[in-house]
Amino acid sequence: MITKTFSATLDGIQGALVQIEAVSLNSIPQIQITGLPGEVVKESRERVRACLVYLGFDVPTEKILVHLSPANIKKMGSHYDLPIALSVLAAEGRLSGNCLSDYGFIGEVALDGHLRAVRGALPLIEILIQQPHIKKVIIPKDNEAEGALLENPKILVAKTIGEVLESIRNEKTLPHCLVPPTIQRAVTYKHLDQVIGQNLAKRALQIAIAGKHHLLFVGPPGVGKSMLSAAALSLLPEMTHEEFIEVLKIYSASSIELDSLIKTRKRPYRSPHHSISANGLLGGGSGILTPGEVSLSHHGVLFLDEFPEYRRDAIEGLREPLQSGVLHLTRVGKFLSLPARFTLIAAMNPCPCGLFSQIENRCRCTPEKKAQYRKKLSTPILDRMALMVQLTPTDLGKTYCEEKLTHEVIKESIQKATEIQRKRFDKEESIKSNGAVEAPQAMEGFYLDQKTENWMKTQQQQYRLSFRRVNQVIKVARTIADLEGDDQILISHLNEAWSLRCFDFYQLH
Ligand SMILES: [Zn+2]
Repeated sequence: MITKTFSATLDGIQGALVQIEAVSLNSIPQIQITGLPGEVVKESRERVRACLVYLGFDVPTEKILVHLSPANIKKMGSHYDLPIALSVLAAEGRLSGNCLSDYGFIGEVALDGHLRAVRGALPLIEILIQQPHIKKVIIPKDNEAEGALLENPKILVAKTIGEVLESIRNEKTLPHCLVPPTIQRAVTYKHLDQVIGQNLAKRALQIAIAGKHHLLFVGPPGVGKSMLSAAALSLLPEMTHEEFIEVLKIYSASSIELDSLIKTRKRPYRSPHHSISANGLLGGGSGILTPGEVSLSHHGVLFLDEFPEYRRDAIEGLREPLQSGVLHLTRVGKFLSLPARFTLIAAMNPCPCGLFSQIENRCRCTPEKKAQYRKKLSTPILDRMALMVQLTPTDLGKTYCEEKLTHEVIKESIQKATEIQRKRFDKEESIKSNGAVEAPQAMEGFYLDQKTENWMKTQQQQYRLSFRRVNQVIKVARTIADLEGDDQILISHLNEAWSLRCFDFYQLH
């Protein structure tokens, strides 16, 4: 008799259903797995056999063929142990009839029968509970926190394979998932007020986070670029439940910092060193696809210090996610897309020695060296930076009132501007912030009245602005208006948006 049950596989960060069939054949006793199993799945034969023997089952007594379908997707990971073990028992006649066909299982089995946590549990569980024919999804107790977030009564947790068997035989009721309590992370955040002056940069940071616009800080060492960027972590607005689940799926597939994320529900803040590879920054790897820093920063901030020092292929690879919030990757002939809607905060010195200043210039770099340094950032990359601010050691902040730029005031204004955008983009599928808008002219809330439009047209002609730059100024102006609580974009908003991106990067000398 052929037995049937279900598990799932990771396709990028999405789950895909896998059917597991098993049949006993009159041949030399062994367990054989077919259906493109990866190395870890092949090893499952030995783990499962050893575990079942430890539990007192003398298996296999015949050849048991376990087939994983669809056969054209490579199956990776240890989470097939549990469904394979149960399928072997059912094929051997140790479990009655078709009792497994209503179930979905994930879990690695230890040799003593304990169930261990698996990587990518959240997307795997999600796809299983979405199947109407699957009535119960059994997961390891150690993955309970992820299961709990999906709030579905089909999900049950077990500590051992013995408990799973008792449940299938109706001898025991398995518990549902318990939601873990949210805790405040006991770390001290960098505070914006620790940076003296630099009001222009603080204002740019406020606008960047509020509207999710990409920002570049240019300035000599020690002016506060890194401290300002680090303060971004505590200025980030709260995540919605949908955003949280999206972020969690990425971390679940990567198996990093998951517990801390579940408990704190803080937006991601990632700051990889400039020695990172293009794969590390963008994602990749052979076999199981590993999300890169751009995806780990989804719905949060990616801070790249010493921006021109990153590898050229890594920087250029940012073009697509900076523009569209998605990263497309091809792996083993397969096309995958990963979410990467982050806000980039990049920082750099004005020249290789870092001492160039328009006020007190102690720079000794040759013009060629300076030009070479700045050319490391291509025009398409710079074009995607909606805000570009030059920091100087003596910025006393003449552009904006000091009292409006305290940490608490900025934090509150960002939260309010975020709420306004949530309402504005309520019915939009992929756009949830001003920064993500592709064509502001066609978007409600971005209209300019005649006078304002004329002003913008004059600027466009005077400075020969590209279409992309005009759109960027309008989008940033929309965020400034949201921070001020204004419904309409005014000339003053456009003017400030323009002033925060007008310095010419290549003309810095
Ligand atoms: Zn220099």
